[in-house]
Amino acid sequence: MSGSYNAHSVLSASGAHRWMDCTPSALLEQQFPNETSIFAEEGTAAHDLAEHKLKKALKMRSKKPTSKFHSDEMDEMTDLYVEYCLGIIENAKEECQDLQILIEQKLDFSDYVPEGFGTGDLVVVGNGTLHVIDLKYGRGVVVSAEKNPQMMLYALGALSLFEMLYDIEKVSMTIIQPRVDNFSTYEVTVDELLNWAEQELKPKALLASNGDGEFCAGDHCRFCRARNQCRARAVKNLELLKYEFQDPALLLDEEVAEIIGLADELSKWASDIYTYATALAINEGKQWAGFKLVEGRTRRKYADEDVVAEKAKEAGYTDIFKQSLISITEMEKLMGKKKFKDILGDYVEKPKGKLALVPETDKREAIEPIEAEFQVEN
Ligand code: SF4
Repeated sequence: MSGSYNAHSVLSASGAHRWMDCTPSALLEQQFPNETSIFAEEGTAAHDLAEHKLKKALKMRSKKPTSKFHSDEMDEMTDLYVEYCLGIIENAKEECQDLQILIEQKLDFSDYVPEGFGTGDLVVVGNGTLHVIDLKYGRGVVVSAEKNPQMMLYALGALSLFEMLYDIEKVSMTIIQPRVDNFSTYEVTVDELLNWAEQELKPKALLASNGDGEFCAGDHCRFCRARNQCRARAVKNLELLKYEFQDPALLLDEEVAEIIGLADELSKWASDIYTYATALAINEGKQWAGFKLVEGRTRRKYADEDVVAEKAKEAGYTDIFKQSLISITEMEKLMGKKKFKDILGDYVEKPKGKLALVPETDKREAIEPIEAEFQVEN
């Protein structure tokens, strides 16, 4: 299971991408309470169920967990996880009969990161390869295993458990994120992993544990507990102000391109600050100079639909009901992914998306603009 769902060390594996890029962030975050969300609780339930199913499939003792989050979708997604894990185990078995299979294994990587530990969902070792597998139940952000520091930390922890017992040459790290069809694997040699740990990880972990180094804002700020009040993030986003008093009066093309590049993070930042300030105003009565709390705009609604229907019928109106299909997501949840595909796959279409400008690093393929679609009035 991802260490993110349970106990946290200051330099957590799940936060490694952040404290490695912004080393002082880990200590700064300690001022803020741990955030929990409904998604994290759902993730915990999915991990518990996946653990149980995998143990059962491997003929290990396990008691089925219960949770209010269990659903057909979770059942199906955890089945996919188990199926993928069994595939990895079967492949490894072909080359080695004496496999070590560990589920929910505590992994200690404190040789590299002060007090560093995490929990591996599945660790398989035996055929000269160490496999570390992590289930991610989220669907918001697709997480790649490639050079993923969380996975590399788990791999270091697993390596220190087994290196005396097995001759391990290669490490294979897999993230299974079934809700977004993401099955991502990254392989490195043990030498490459240890080299990264010595050259990159250790020095950054040392800086991070002392709160040293430079603040550095970026995508990794998204789940930082200091994100709302962090000055470095504000300074980075307020860089746009540098255009205020410059000549010429119109922005240059390269300036427009730079602003587009900042716009996404800028809007996330503004939304974080707004949410933070609003929550304080509502929950603690905090006064923000120049702002006040008001009720949002609302729409009219029927006070009691049964009474309304009755009254309308009494008045002679009969054409008052309409029926509509549930949404694709609701249908998929109802049927489960496989049945949905079998029964309705041919009847679902995906319209072309609205054209959007995105950074070159985006994984989607670039398209040639069709002249007609870009024609504007002269
Ligand atoms: S919000 Fe970003 S820049 Fe600020 S401490 Fe967190 S990771 Fe670093």
